Amino acid sequence: MMSVLRAPWAVVHSPGYTLDMSGQESLHPFDVHKYRKIADLLHADGLLDGGTIIEPDPLTEPEAASVHTSDYMRLWTDPETMAEIFEVDYLRNVSPDTIRTRYLPPYFAMAGGTVRAAREALQCGTAFNIGGGFHHAHADHGSGFCFVADVAVAIRLLMREKLIQRAAIVDCDVHQGDGNATIFAGDPAVFTLSFHQEDIFPFEKATSTRDVPFPAGTGDEIYMALLREHVPDVLDAHRPDIVFYVAGSDVHADDPLAAAELTAAGIVQRDAYVWRHARKRGIPFVMVLAGGYFPRCPEVHAASIGNVINLAKKQGLNGR
Ligand SMILES: [Zn+2]
Repeated sequence: MMSVLRAPWAVVHSPGYTLDMSGQESLHPFDVHKYRKIADLLHADGLLDGGTIIEPDPLTEPEAASVHTSDYMRLWTDPETMAEIFEVDYLRNVSPDTIRTRYLPPYFAMAGGTVRAAREALQCGTAFNIGGGFHHAHADHGSGFCFVADVAVAIRLLMREKLIQRAAIVDCDVHQGDGNATIFAGDPAVFTLSFHQEDIFPFEKATSTRDVPFPAGTGDEIYMALLREHVPDVLDAHRPDIVFYVAGSDVHADDPLAAAELTAAGIVQRDAYVWRHARKRGIPFVMVLAGGYFPRCPEVHAASIGNVINLAKKQGLNGR
């Protein structure tokens, strides 16, 4: 019987990821069009090679409750709480109903995208959510633009369905993945590995399974040496059934929220390195985007994702 061979990669994104800021965009360093720009660039540059972008279902509240407390979830429509999490004062003057109908849906869409990308990765080996990576969301509170812990929810759902037993989060966003660290503290099935600049937000660090802090000014060479020291070791020791890779590009030298000094080529090399070490061990790999606030950020992500797609194509479906 003929079987249809699927591509060894999947890209997940939806127009619903884009937040309607109603002209308030300039109040925030976050470019709300970043994810759409990346998806557009992937199409325009032919990097998807005729492949399609999968549109995910939004995360549901019962799914979010696999990680978050009900007391905290009730605050998701509270203007004061959301203004603090997103660090934008004008949200204090927005009605709970407007928050529910306008501000929450893009984040539920992106979190649903992380769950979908994880499911795709289990099938084809390599999947990207062009969004997500809200690693500062804790079980009972949010911070740093993050209220729903998309990666943690995906892990809990896959575990509940017995699709995976063990997971690793490799977090290369320039900020510590403190939310995922506290959610999985004391859970030996989930290894949290965070590479981050030591002297920036979050100022009170959580304890990841392994933290790799580095000083301001860290560039490509030292950063790659840290990856080589820790990534293969963690994957060999923990033997996860899936790797969630938090691929923040705010390690770039031009990023206004941090002081690492990676180049665009360094970020492409970093992403390919983590991908290669997961896939050569046959471990499904899911990339989520997390932070990145410099003007060329969409171009850098698109170039890197395109590079990993090409590597995945060469490798084929079965890995190694
Ligand atoms: Zn960040």
